[in-house]
Amino acid sequence: MDLTDLYRDIIIDHNRAPHNYGSMRSATRHADGYNPLCGDRLTVYLKMDGDRVEKVSFEGSGCAISVASASLMTDHLKGKTKAQAQAAFGQIHALLTGATDDAPADLGKLAALAGVRDYPSRVKCATLCWHTIQAALNEQDAVTTE
Ligand code: ZN
Repeated sequence: MDLTDLYRDIIIDHNRAPHNYGSMRSATRHADGYNPLCGDRLTVYLKMDGDRVEKVSFEGSGCAISVASASLMTDHLKGKTKAQAQAAFGQIHALLTGATDDAPADLGKLAALAGVRDYPSRVKCATLCWHTIQAALNEQDAVTTE
């Protein structure tokens, strides 16, 4: 893939050593996500403190984009409220579908995913974890990108 070097390095690092990887025994919610186009599968675990994400983790198997995206997402969402998580998903979705050109500053390292929009077939790899965490936040059990 021909991502810019910075973005590529972030994605490679997060794929090689994903943050917040593993199941969570104390999870209050979890959901499974599946992207049949690529075969990416992941489970997202959430521990909520009221309306706030206290802990979030994931496990699963998939391509580098799907794993790196989940790693970046879990880093980003720790401590955020449900509303903030949904707002971040809206921003990521706009970025990946080309609805906005520039990543809002508060997306932080999530901006590394911007390069994925040049590869439309991979957008669902990057958004799978977001669809999955939405399902968990909304207390649904499973979601697919189809
Ligand atoms: Zn994928």
